[in-house]
Amino acid sequence: GKGIAVFTSGGDSQGMNAAVRAVVRMGIYLGCKVYFIREGYQGMVDGGDNIVEANWSSVSCIIHKGGTIIGSARCKDFRERAGRLKAAKNLVDNGITNLVVIGGDGSLTGADLFRQEWSSLLDELLKNNQITTEQREKYKSLQIAGLVGSIDNDFCGTDMTIGTDSALHRIIEAIDAIVSTAYSHQRTFIMEVMGRHCGYLALVAALTGEADYVFIPEEPEENWQKTLCDKLAQERNSGQRLNIIIVSEGAIDRNGDPITAEQVKKVVVDNLHQDTRITVLGHVQRGGNPSAFDRILGCRMGAEAVMALMEADENTEPCVISLDGNQAVRVPLMECVKQTKAVAQAMADKQWEKAVSLRGKS
Ligand code: ATP
Repeated sequence: GKGIAVFTSGGDSQGMNAAVRAVVRMGIYLGCKVYFIREGYQGMVDGGDNIVEANWSSVSCIIHKGGTIIGSARCKDFRERAGRLKAAKNLVDNGITNLVVIGGDGSLTGADLFRQEWSSLLDELLKNNQITTEQREKYKSLQIAGLVGSIDNDFCGTDMTIGTDSALHRIIEAIDAIVSTAYSHQRTFIMEVMGRHCGYLALVAALTGEADYVFIPEEPEENWQKTLCDKLAQERNSGQRLNIIIVSEGAIDRNGDPITAEQVKKVVVDNLHQDTRITVLGHVQRGGNPSAFDRILGCRMGAEAVMALMEADENTEPCVISLDGNQAVRVPLMECVKQTKAVAQAMADKQWEKAVSLRGKS
């Protein structure tokens, strides 16, 4: 059977454990040897106890847990060829030539680069007498499949990333809680939510939490202060006892300058004299149990990643497993990464409409 390793890299998200579990069990079911690599690329570079064979029961009782049981990290060493050379040696030592990488666009870019270099890394290891000629031949190609774990839903090519739905659950629970206290005291609450440069969490939270106003990076407004105050005043005049405003952490104005919860509060207090409070949700959004949706998404994507690796050979382009119209499908990894980067560039260039159209369905 093939040697497959699974690891999680970059920021954690709910549902990663479901994906890890599915990779392990589908791999074993199909007769592969499956390994965990702990602490992302750092564990791959350091080797030793960081690379361990998994069995059926090592992934029992993890599907309901948030985060990732095998640890995640950011790793400087892997950005250098010397680090990737060490990683290649550790993989060959363990007979691993297939990788399931669960992470964001950075982690996937690193995996793609590693695959492109694989042959030359093995040549160097052979030259240094760190591997044998037989090993050079036996492990001559590396296959990779990517899964996107992120609460931000900021990756092009998939309808949903693993973790987004659970984060939304955390956010709307918090909004519901805030609404009841805001109602009692006729207060206005400004809630800052995560998402980096993507307004998905803020927008969906605003729609489902019945917010009065939302600030997202993709739609910076001219003269937002007036529009906001008019809207809040209108809501209060029609008898509403509270106001909820959602601010995405990446919210900006037409100049591209950040709009912060503090700025919004000042505008509301100065103009409307409402009793106004700020709640920053922070890492609560990334924690807690994964929703049923994220569990099943992780399961489907993990299983499909193993299927893709089983069918792959040295001529197969690396893929990302994506959700497209409720189907788990394989899409070209580097095309998705390129498009994701193009979105970031369009945002930086203040071409917001272009960014939205490039981002596509998600
Ligand atoms: P998140 O969306 O949570 O930030 P990410 O995967 O984009 O996840 P990064 O910090 O960009 O997070 O990348 C994670 C790790 O992947 C890095 O610490 C590094 O080890 C590796 N990596 C990222 N980009 C590259 C690259 N261009 N070359 C080699 N390795 C890379």
